[in-house]
Amino acid sequence: MHFYTGQVLRLDLTAQRATVEPLDEDWARLFVGGKGLLLRHLFDELPAGTEALAPQNPLILATGPFAGTAAATCSRLAVGCKSPATGTLLDSYVGGSFAPELKFAGYDVVLVTGRASEPVLVLIEDDSVQFVPAEGEFWGLETSALEALVRERFGPRHKVLSTGPAGERLVPYACLSTDQFHKAGRGGAGAVMGSKNLKAVVVRGHGAVAVGDASAFAADMLRLQNDAVLTPDNAWTWEEGTPAILDAVSAAGALPTRNWRTGTFAGSGRIDSEALLRVRSKIRACTQCPLACRQVHTFGDYVCEGPEFETLGLCGADCGIDDLAAVAAFNMACDELGLDTISTGAVVGLAMDLCACGAADYGLAFGDTAGYLEAPHLIASGEGYGAELALGARALAALKGRPDLAAEVKGLEMPAYDPRGTFGMGLAYATSDRGACHMRAFTAGDDILGGSAAADSLAGRARLVVDQQDFTSIAWSGVWCANMALDAAFLGAHFRHLWGRETTADELLTAGARIWNLGRLLNLREGLSRADDRLPERIVGTPHPDGGAAGKVIGAGAFEEALGEYYALRGWDAEGVPTDATLRRLSLERLREGGRG
Ligand code: SF4
Repeated sequence: MHFYTGQVLRLDLTAQRATVEPLDEDWARLFVGGKGLLLRHLFDELPAGTEALAPQNPLILATGPFAGTAAATCSRLAVGCKSPATGTLLDSYVGGSFAPELKFAGYDVVLVTGRASEPVLVLIEDDSVQFVPAEGEFWGLETSALEALVRERFGPRHKVLSTGPAGERLVPYACLSTDQFHKAGRGGAGAVMGSKNLKAVVVRGHGAVAVGDASAFAADMLRLQNDAVLTPDNAWTWEEGTPAILDAVSAAGALPTRNWRTGTFAGSGRIDSEALLRVRSKIRACTQCPLACRQVHTFGDYVCEGPEFETLGLCGADCGIDDLAAVAAFNMACDELGLDTISTGAVVGLAMDLCACGAADYGLAFGDTAGYLEAPHLIASGEGYGAELALGARALAALKGRPDLAAEVKGLEMPAYDPRGTFGMGLAYATSDRGACHMRAFTAGDDILGGSAAADSLAGRARLVVDQQDFTSIAWSGVWCANMALDAAFLGAHFRHLWGRETTADELLTAGARIWNLGRLLNLREGLSRADDRLPERIVGTPHPDGGAAGKVIGAGAFEEALGEYYALRGWDAEGVPTDATLRRLSLERLREGGRG
């Protein structure tokens, strides 16, 4: 099959053995790559009910078919496992240059299973796979130091996917890092890598990706680059990057501020893209990407790639911090320690709130940078109050007797769009397969940024959320980047080369629905139910006292009605279980709830 290497690399850490298996071509046709192939492998590899940090939980790296080619933004890698933060499936994405290198080495997918008895890193150089002892030399290193040492030891062009000190200590919101600043941030894949005594996967490849008719493919990619990638619609990526939306989200009352107490941050003008442009020193890009959205900033004697919008929201506004240099330093600490900035910012904001209400005494306060800057280090090391903050928002709030103060869904801290300022995001979060996530459905794009729909209504939102989840499921299987305007015609132009025929938008959405329903079966098998498709009570029922969304409330009744409509549109029963007819329509009938493929 063109675009695929046809090989799956299985790394058994317990036995320190590497084996190569053929890629299942039927799975590649049905599930494409990235998210789809990852979930299909996870469905078979994960024994039902396995603890996320048990050796039996596989860590899966899945490339997309277009990684290693000229397809714009497709250099991203999907990383997945059962999440230690949520107990759900986890698929998380990271850019940079790792995925193309893995394809050049000859592998579409890597399955990491078991647990090494001592810390190791895995070194993949084309057909050669070595398990290299990591104790003493690599274990314990922060991201930059690790990558520098790996390149010094093995070669300057080797690519590294690693866990940081936080992942080694099993913090459930530890991330994976590559190319220093690129993160597979959400859901705790860093802790799963750490639980396996695996510090890093290092790869160097010398092959290429066959694309079939190379001239026709190159001509199409060049046409698409001019007509659909480097366009005015995408100009914000290289001009400002994701911080471009901060002021609009704040004005709409949707920017989490002081632990979700309100949605408009008075200090947003001091941490917005205008402020960042004053300290921007350069822009960078992932491999295969002409958009170059990665904004690099210089603060005195240190350089920070970012902060991105989500980091500004959770580590800035949600903590009441409008000191841009402090937010950047917090961001840098998280990057070096291997912590997801969304969850870390949310947890620190919660800890400040707990202190404000007298439920905790961490010495943290909204807007105070002193303790704030120390927090990521304590979380990663487990020292002082860090051990409690390392539990994550849900467990921390419960521990302190204030579960009402945690803003999370299924255990994952909510990203930087408060549903009270964009109601549709509430349904998007509640139905997201990995817990609160803005990357599966993003209705804020229509109501806040596009202004084409009412932000304070759930009318039509169930349909939009279903369609966007199906679309992103196929797009994240491709694997394109969320930072560019994508549509079915653009994806179809690529699939024409992959499948050798024209595709329709309906066909792509059906493939996306298949992948989404596969994830639902997996989550149901792990014990989730309708009761988990929920929002925190205060997000549904307590309006903001001020700001752009003052007084607006979704309401429990309206939310339940929209959830029922969502299930019906999905072809699920009232408990959120796909019906037999739905599974047959999507060629998933063999994967019954509780079954193995
Ligand atoms: S748009 Fe930005 S994050 Fe996405 S692939 Fe390009 S450089 Fe990477």
